[in-house]
Amino acid sequence: MRHSVLLIHLDNFRHNLGVIRKLVGPRVKISVSMKADAYGHGALDIARAAERGGADFLGVATPQEGMELRRAGVVMPILLYGLCLPEEHKLLVQHDISAVAVDDPGIEAFEGAAEKLGRPALLHLKIDTGMGRIGCAPEDAVRLAARIASSPFLRLEGVATHFPCSDEKDLGFTRQQIALFRDLVNRIKAAGVNPGLLHASNSGGVLQCPEANFSMVRPGILPFGYYPSREVARPLDIRPVMELRSRVLFLKKVPAGTPISYGCTYRTPAPTWIATLGVGYADGYPRSLSNRGRVLIKGRTYPVVGRVTMDQVMVDLGPQTEIRRYDEAVMFGPDPAGPGAEDLAELAGTIPYEITCGINRRVPRLVVGAETDGQDPR
Ligand SMILES: *Cc1c(COP(=O)(O)O)cnc(C)c1O
Repeated sequence: MRHSVLLIHLDNFRHNLGVIRKLVGPRVKISVSMKADAYGHGALDIARAAERGGADFLGVATPQEGMELRRAGVVMPILLYGLCLPEEHKLLVQHDISAVAVDDPGIEAFEGAAEKLGRPALLHLKIDTGMGRIGCAPEDAVRLAARIASSPFLRLEGVATHFPCSDEKDLGFTRQQIALFRDLVNRIKAAGVNPGLLHASNSGGVLQCPEANFSMVRPGILPFGYYPSREVARPLDIRPVMELRSRVLFLKKVPAGTPISYGCTYRTPAPTWIATLGVGYADGYPRSLSNRGRVLIKGRTYPVVGRVTMDQVMVDLGPQTEIRRYDEAVMFGPDPAGPGAEDLAELAGTIPYEITCGINRRVPRLVVGAETDGQDPR
């Protein structure tokens, strides 16, 4: 057992995927986001669980993420959500990774690569209906869709857009985007082009805009057990997949007025027990949780005191304690008795996405609740 360990509750992931499947129904495809090592959970384990759990696509942010999955033997459809460099078009075609196309030069590059390799490039036309990140202008959508569809080396596998505000209470902007997207799709069809899969919704859209399910949804944070914002309703039984645990490495009784950690930003108000845990900001426990975070040890939560350091964190256990050296501490996880990634995100001024993505490679991952063992090795 290392100082810290990241438990990945695969059973919770499978459960969440089932909840989403039930919500969108059997006919809507689900593309699960594998970006950033599956939001920090470990892309390979999550990809296998997604495949067994009935997901239809895996979404990646870079060609390397897609290749890693292919090399590991993942055969299900993979879609590159982002753009790639000129030298990467060939790799994508070679490995059957679908990609978004947003303009003529990109389409040409895929066409060239596909012609050379003698196999079609699978493209999804991405239309920017208001995200302002990547995508073609709405007025170019019909022409670009027709161009892709008419090429013998390309296949128009889908038409897509993305929502920047679907996790907000006010859905006015998202509804305008949906109307625009629907209108463009109709014009693409009217031009005699089969648009393939239509997809728009991220987690916020899945929760709040069922009318935007179209033929596929792209939930990212939701299958990992978090809502995309505090503004959305919480009707689903979803469970966090990630749990960060550490251990008490040192324990000391100190008098009142004892300074704790860099900058001496905390001084014990009374005689108390201070525990030092083997986790720090280098593991991804945010330094902004200095004097703010809470930790679950043996069924109770205690405050993080003083600054979070690179490899260690101090916790005030109070004047009397049952806690012993080497006891386990839960930094965040699915247990409702302790802090969740969402609570920490709020305290740290960020979102749960950044908490889970931020857990460093130094922390070993331990998959629990996998179908093959079904046994918690704790
Ligand atoms: C990351 C991403 C998603 C998933 O977003 P969530 O907010 O995590 O649901 C969907 N679509 C695209 C294009 C993305 O980049």
